[in-house]
Order: sequence, then C-alpha cells, then structure tokens
Amino acid sequence: MERGQRPAKPAFPEPFARVVEAFRRLPGIGSKTATRLAFHLLLSSEEERSLLTGALDTLRSNLIPCRDCRNIVERDTQNPEAPLRCTICCDPARDRGILIVVEDIQTLYSLEKSGEFKGLYHVLEGRLSPLEGVNPDKLRIRELLERLGDPEVKEVILATSPTTDGEATALYLSRLIKPMGIRVSRIAFGIPVGLEIEYVDEVTLIRAVEGRHPF
Ligand SMILES: [Zn+2]
Repeated sequence: MERGQRPAKPAFPEPFARVVEAFRRLPGIGSKTATRLAFHLLLSSEEERSLLTGALDTLRSNLIPCRDCRNIVERDTQNPEAPLRCTICCDPARDRGILIVVEDIQTLYSLEKSGEFKGLYHVLEGRLSPLEGVNPDKLRIRELLERLGDPEVKEVILATSPTTDGEATALYLSRLIKPMGIRVSRIAFGIPVGLEIEYVDEVTLIRAVEGRHPF
C-alpha cells in the first residue's frame, strides 16, 4: 500500500452486505456498529435470529393507531379492522381536561416514562414544514380539533420541538385553538433550541412541561 493511502473497505459477500446496509440506515448506527450487529446475528442461534425477524414481521401488521390519540395499540386479532383506543386513553385515572400535543409517539413515551404527566395525548404525526411539503392536511390537526369539541378539555399544551418548524406548528395550532375558549400553553424549554424533541431525555422533558407558559 502506498503511503497515505487508506486501506480498502472489506468487500462483504452480498447477503452479509445487505444486512450491514440495513442496520446502517437506522438512526444512530454507523458502519462499524452495523457490521458488528451483522456479525453478531450471523453467529447467533437460529432461535435468536427468528426472535428478531418474527418481531419485525409483526411490528406493523399487529399495531394500529389509537382511535383518539394515534398512540400505537395492538390490533384485535378477532376483529382486525376494529378501531381501538390505547391504554392511556382508556385509563379512567387520567385527567381528561388536559391534552398535550406531541409530534411523534416517541415523545409520548418519553413523557410517559417520567410518570408525571396525568393528562391525555395527541400525536400530530409530524410538524408543519412548508419546505418539505408538510401542510396542515398531512398532520392530525382535524382529529385534534374534533377532540377539542369535548367540553371537558380545558387546556392544551403544545409540546412540539423548539425548531423553526416546531414553533411554526405551535403558533398555527394556538391560533386555531384559542378561539375555542381553551387555554393554550407552550412547554418551557430547558431544551437546547434547535434540537429535535425526540432526543430530549424524559426528565428535561417533564420539567419543560411543568414550566409551560401561556401561549
Ligand atoms: Zn390513545
């Protein structure tokens, strides 16, 4: 090898390279980790591999969005098309007067992990982004407004990311919700501005919810 020349990347056989590539596409996984995981699976037992493939196969097919909040719910195998409500929405102990709007299910679970938020959720499934062609019709805004028709709802907390798009989404929603006579608040950010909210740890996230301000 000439001086200064980098060693060539190993050329894996196609079936192995495909697994490495599939892992590499996952968030937070670089080439090195992807290769390590692929080798691990290659050398693991048939049972361990089918645990993974079996779980992946049913990941989407056995899950449907909650009828109310869009959290994930396990499909009823007897009646696969039946719309269902998630355990949070069904829980009689939750405060139905307060609803927190999040961009994605990941943020919902981060808040749940803290165990301190007792209200209900609404998952928007994204945020407004004119540049990426995400307009209000692409988000679960209509469903949100329908839920707010319930006179029991007294407050909506907007927990979208502190990014330009997240802020624009919060502003858009507050303009729609305030005329309905519902209190609107925005979470306080001890969260670094510009950071995607799904990467925020649950303690920071729940503090941000507690420190919310009128919006
Ligand atoms: Zn739900």
